[in-house]
Amino acid sequence: MNKCVAMGRVALMMLLSLNVLAEVELHGELKQGGLLWGSLPVGSTAKLDGKALQTADNGVFVFGFDRDAAPAAILEICSANGSCETRDLHIAQRQYDIQRVNGVPQKTVTPPASVLERIRKETALVSKARQQQFSRQDFTQTFKWPVLGPITGVFGSQRVYNGSPGRPHYGLDIAAPTGSTVTAPIDGVVTLAHPDMFYSGGTLIIDHGMGVSSTFIHLSRVLVAEGQEIKQGQVIAEVGATGRATGPHLDWRINWAGLRLDPALVIGPMPSAK
Ligand SMILES: [Zn+2]
Repeated sequence: MNKCVAMGRVALMMLLSLNVLAEVELHGELKQGGLLWGSLPVGSTAKLDGKALQTADNGVFVFGFDRDAAPAAILEICSANGSCETRDLHIAQRQYDIQRVNGVPQKTVTPPASVLERIRKETALVSKARQQQFSRQDFTQTFKWPVLGPITGVFGSQRVYNGSPGRPHYGLDIAAPTGSTVTAPIDGVVTLAHPDMFYSGGTLIIDHGMGVSSTFIHLSRVLVAEGQEIKQGQVIAEVGATGRATGPHLDWRINWAGLRLDPALVIGPMPSAK
């Protein structure tokens, strides 16, 4: 009897070890701009296209696909006993609009030489903030809209500023009056709180762990400080039109490990405004 149970257990474990991937549920959208996470059996490791993904002690891992990601990727999972499996991921390809934005301050389209040093310093501050590493896993929470209002700009659109082609737009723009409160979509820790950057104006970066962060720009006021722990729903800032903006709106961005992702893919439909 005892022997029988033991054998049964061995057979079951083999079955599990051959099907680790089949049991890994991925949360998120397999699309260009998508953020995905999953949870592996403890001790397993994951690779995306041959590159190791950070895996937390509890098995959580996260990854994303940028605006122009290729249509296919390979996810490889190796269990603690060394057996590996791969899954072909099919990344939905998207079409991006061209958006003409007129009326932005011309100095923000062709910055004068006198501000180049300022821009360089601010870019360095942002990348330093995003390079900080936190083991937190706030991105597994269900995101809530940071502000409600009409969507006036989407991820990936090709921007033409006052007639000059610019870089693609990576934010989700939500129009709202200056002074409207911005709330945290999920928990996090503040890694950058800046009152006025050249392009982005009032700028706030909140880290959600494992390389995932939110950035909020064009703010009129930043109400939290660097190092501060933030809870979902907490008031963190006020909407503005600072930096290269034509009118008051919140521009919300999501980054993972140096890639720019689409906030619209992590959040559900907007609830109707009051
Ligand atoms: Zn924007």
